[in-house]
Amino acid sequence: MSGSPHVATVVGARPQFIKLAMLTRRLAALTPVPFRHTLIHTGQHYDADMSEVFFRELELPRPRYELGVGSDRAAQQIAAIMSRLEPLLTADRPDALLVLGDTHSTLAAALVAAHLEIPLVHIEAGERIYRRRRVPEESNRVVADHLATLCLTASRPATWFLEREGIAGRRVRFAGDLHYDLFRWAVRRPELRRVTSAALGLAPGGFILATLHRPENTDAPERLAGLLRQLDEAPLPVVLPMHPRLRGRLADQAFTPKRALRLIDPVGYFDLLGLLLDCRRVVSDSGGVIREAYFARRPCVVPMADNWWRQIAWSGWSIEVGDDEAKLRDALADFDPPATYPEGLFGDGNAAATIIDATAELIGSGAEPIWTPRGRPTSAPRAGAPGERTDFTWAGYRRLIEGLRAEGYDLAPFPEAAARLSAARPFALLRHDVDMDLEAAVELARLEHGWGVQSTYFIMVRNPFYSPFSAEGSRAVRQILGCGHHLGLHLDAAAYPADHPLHDACAAEAEMLEAWFGRPVEIVSFHRPDARVLGGDPSLTAPRPHTYMALFRETIQYLSDSRGRWREGHPLRHEAFHRRRPLHLLVHPIWYGAEPTDPHETLERFLDRHAARSRQALEANCRP
Ligand code: UDP
Repeated sequence: MSGSPHVATVVGARPQFIKLAMLTRRLAALTPVPFRHTLIHTGQHYDADMSEVFFRELELPRPRYELGVGSDRAAQQIAAIMSRLEPLLTADRPDALLVLGDTHSTLAAALVAAHLEIPLVHIEAGERIYRRRRVPEESNRVVADHLATLCLTASRPATWFLEREGIAGRRVRFAGDLHYDLFRWAVRRPELRRVTSAALGLAPGGFILATLHRPENTDAPERLAGLLRQLDEAPLPVVLPMHPRLRGRLADQAFTPKRALRLIDPVGYFDLLGLLLDCRRVVSDSGGVIREAYFARRPCVVPMADNWWRQIAWSGWSIEVGDDEAKLRDALADFDPPATYPEGLFGDGNAAATIIDATAELIGSGAEPIWTPRGRPTSAPRAGAPGERTDFTWAGYRRLIEGLRAEGYDLAPFPEAAARLSAARPFALLRHDVDMDLEAAVELARLEHGWGVQSTYFIMVRNPFYSPFSAEGSRAVRQILGCGHHLGLHLDAAAYPADHPLHDACAAEAEMLEAWFGRPVEIVSFHRPDARVLGGDPSLTAPRPHTYMALFRETIQYLSDSRGRWREGHPLRHEAFHRRRPLHLLVHPIWYGAEPTDPHETLERFLDRHAARSRQALEANCRP
């Protein structure tokens, strides 16, 4: 690598040349340049009017390499791009590789970058229609997103979709749409238009602009024939610049337009823009054209069941007619725009600047990205030695109980502790703070019941994860109590203002639980205990005892599995156990399950289940 950082961009198809325009223009205007930039053209589109014209009129830099793959079946084309790109990138080793959109060139380059460990930036990431049949672009984009070190989105929904797919927030940044940058720049340059509507004999405001190229519309002869028939019978003249795929399919069909439809060769970007600004409405299955119609404030009929730019449909500026010919016919006749226009769906026209900044930052950081969906594994509590993981399974917990029993320990409820101190038999108090996962508490309560164990479950009243008063929460707490377990209160002092008397908070919460479940709250434990609590003052919770009183923390040996590990070693290996001293064991049900896991994974699974439950609740309450 020479001194300055080096970024390469792989392009191959028309929409990518168009996206590139403002990126390279902006880069050229910067001094000092944030990085050296080279361009690689795969040759996926190679016709003069699909490639050359854009390099010329958008003044794109000449590609440093042309891979010349040409058209082919998908797998052949992807394989050809990969095998030609790999040696170039191996020799050149850019500091980052940029790919754009959703073409086979995007996918192939993303795979090569991943295997050569070159940080990958995916521009226009995250767009989804959640359909893959006959939509290869969707698959290409999904793979590129998941391989990318950095996903730069063109719309807000794309950012949401990536988050929903588990891509860490730090790998995603909203940049806005390069098509919008270019639109804003190009709209002010009418002198660059050549093929005007006037030259085509079309009256401004009196014609429809159409483009068609998705395989789902072009590849089935009947579907294509139906579409063309409708366009030909439209009430206004329709001009359709032909994508090579459409031209290819038409060569196999004996179709000649007779009425409204005019098939023309593909036009350059500025000409397309001119037609767009002059037309009455648009019919298109092109991702670029659908957005450009919105930028130009022209209503757009989309002959697809769903398209990537649904926010335009949400706002009423596009309509998806699927493969319904009657709907298409109606929309061709009367789909007009709504009265209001939502600004800014694709950013503010500064996508290029954001993309350049984000890329420069990425190169500067040089760090391995965070691939986990939420946070960093090491930011989570760490389990003890690997060999100790099996302690945090139900079987491990059972071994603990059996170990206590084998040593002659009684399992006692908290109110009996003081009286038992003078007895000869050792005893253990089993405490379960239920601070997040009530479901895990029910599981453990049932298991304990099966083993003839009674313990105390400390239930929270103010908790962001469950409510003992919700239908589901009450059922769960009743199941726990129905297994013969005791009721405790787990109080979050931090949920109250600092000057709120803790005693009042405790009394209020305990009384609520007692009234609701008809059982006494035998004892109180504290979540996130503060200095007031750690002092052990019994009056804090009087007349009920609390677990931070000297009796339960000093006289009796207190051992806790907080954060998923026995901080003072496993209870059966602790010297207090060997000396048969009384034990107060805090066991959090959330850490225990059928299989050994890392506590980080346990928390992640808890979050997944929590989210799934919220979703179910949402669906039960509201189904749009
Ligand atoms: N476009 C063009 N000339 C045409 C048709 C389209 O310059 O005859 C431009 C259009 O303005 C848009 C881009 O090509 O910016 C869209 O490319 P395409 O439809 O091939 O792909 P998609 O956007 O669906 O990925």
